[in-house]
Amino acid sequence: MTIKTKKGRIVIDSKLCKGCYFCVSVCPNELIVISTESNEKGYYPARFTETKDEEGCKCTGCAMCAVICPDIAIEVYRG
Ligand code: SF4
Ligand code: SF4
Repeated sequence: MTIKTKKGRIVIDSKLCKGCYFCVSVCPNELIVISTESNEKGYYPARFTETKDEEGCKCTGCAMCAVICPDIAIEVYRG
């Protein structure tokens, strides 16, 4: 029997992000980085580094990144 572990993914709204690094610093799996390109407001927004939901995905959907974000720029999806 295979037990499927629940996984997560996030979506970062780069227009709302101010590049404060909070989410980068709290992600236990180091899945968020700061972009090298600025957004329209001149901030360098955070970027989620995982592109797939398949096996090997490390995001657990713990939501620590979303909870700490002062600009409510992160949405978390689980399962
Ligand atoms: S939900 Fe958790 S594991 Fe996923 S990116 Fe955010 S802090 Fe990292
Ligand atoms: S915590 Fe929010 S505002 Fe700060 S870098 Fe992450 S997404 Fe951007």
